[in-house]
Amino acid sequence: MGADDVVRRVFRSRRVIVDQRIEPASLHVEGETIVAVTDHGDVPAAAELVDFGNLVVMPGLVDTHVHVNEPGRTEWEGFATATRAAAAGGVTTVVDMPLNSVPATTTVSALRAKLAAAEGKLTVDVGFWGGVVPGNAAELQPLREAGVLGFKCFLVPSGVDEFPAVGEADLRAALPALASLGVPLLAHAELPGPIEAATAALAAAPADRYATWLASRPPAAEEEAIALLLRLCREHGARLHVVHLSASSAVEALRVAKASGLQVSVETCPHYLALAAEEIGDGATDHKCAPPIRERANNDMLWAALEEGVIDLVASDHSPCPRAMKHLRDPDDPAGASAGSGDFFRAWGGIASLELSLPVTWTAARRRGHEPERLAEWMSAAPARLAGLDGRKGALEPGRDADFVVWDPDAIFTVDPQRLHQRHKLSPYAGRRLHGVVHATYLRGREVFARGAFPQPPTGRVLLSGA
Ligand SMILES: [Zn+2]
Repeated sequence: MGADDVVRRVFRSRRVIVDQRIEPASLHVEGETIVAVTDHGDVPAAAELVDFGNLVVMPGLVDTHVHVNEPGRTEWEGFATATRAAAAGGVTTVVDMPLNSVPATTTVSALRAKLAAAEGKLTVDVGFWGGVVPGNAAELQPLREAGVLGFKCFLVPSGVDEFPAVGEADLRAALPALASLGVPLLAHAELPGPIEAATAALAAAPADRYATWLASRPPAAEEEAIALLLRLCREHGARLHVVHLSASSAVEALRVAKASGLQVSVETCPHYLALAAEEIGDGATDHKCAPPIRERANNDMLWAALEEGVIDLVASDHSPCPRAMKHLRDPDDPAGASAGSGDFFRAWGGIASLELSLPVTWTAARRRGHEPERLAEWMSAAPARLAGLDGRKGALEPGRDADFVVWDPDAIFTVDPQRLHQRHKLSPYAGRRLHGVVHATYLRGREVFARGAFPQPPTGRVLLSGA
């Protein structure tokens, strides 16, 4: 073999997800890239062979909704811990949200600070969303040119002061730039009006009851926000992505908008698909997020919308914080010294589930009769398209990065938060028995997670648009 020859490695299994089908196949990899996908038995004599037997080989998950919080709130999470959690969960690409870090990614200098903070810490690849906030319309094009993949905004208070919500006038200032750049506007779609009205009516209700929190964030807040966003994006010819849809009552408007040709995509999260308000105990603030986890009947309709394709993708909305900020009440020791108040209104809203996204979603999906290949569309291919990364990520085909997860959909494990790789070991899935065990995760042809460990120093890269 001459010095110029690249070693061909072949990874094969009886169950490889190619083209939304699951079949015996061999992935041929040279360097970091898939160069061919062939029949299972087609292995050149000179190739190095890794045979995964009957384990599922699926495109690495692309999680487009992750709050890494570094720099500035690294004590909440951070690039090192978040990307290790990602690798352990079969996620090979993370797209970081522009808020909860300080500075927020609303200027080019803030993006540079983020890139500097990420240096040398990435176990998987990471891209970045920029932010639309009041007054930063002139920053959008420079941010895009500096590499962000699209832009996120809030229509209600975000929870942090440095990332204020936008109103209709701010959106009108930003949307022409987003339309001409061809990038999506990712919107936290809840409007303040219905929330303020509902909250005022609940002034006397106990703050530690889940029912109070749920009633304070009515579906009308999502419905009205989505109506406003659809109207503005239609006017400006802009792309819209609705993040973390929870209210199934907004599905019909989204279905109609999509059928009319609007460029709109929709995301929901594992917790809306797998959990239900009926089973959330009082004081169980580890379940707090916004919009809230709604009733089982609502969530069944989210499933139907996902199956139909009105909801395009599933992303984690991984949004961790230190344990004390959750004010979690210990159900076994509600008066104990370490127990919090269980106050849903004081607790930080967010569920950290980057590492569990695959098994949580899979466990719920298999119960509904789905096969693993549906997950590859919802959690790899569709999010890669949203972020404009589908030339390199999201599918097992020649020319794309050799990013894949090797997992056993039939194996069962019990969630022990202490074993998660996220910084704070808090999870609403604690003690749940889930289907789907990740055996290994490969990033650009290299094994970055295997058998519970990270076999090499971080080799993840930042993914900048145009780079
Ligand atoms: Zn979020």
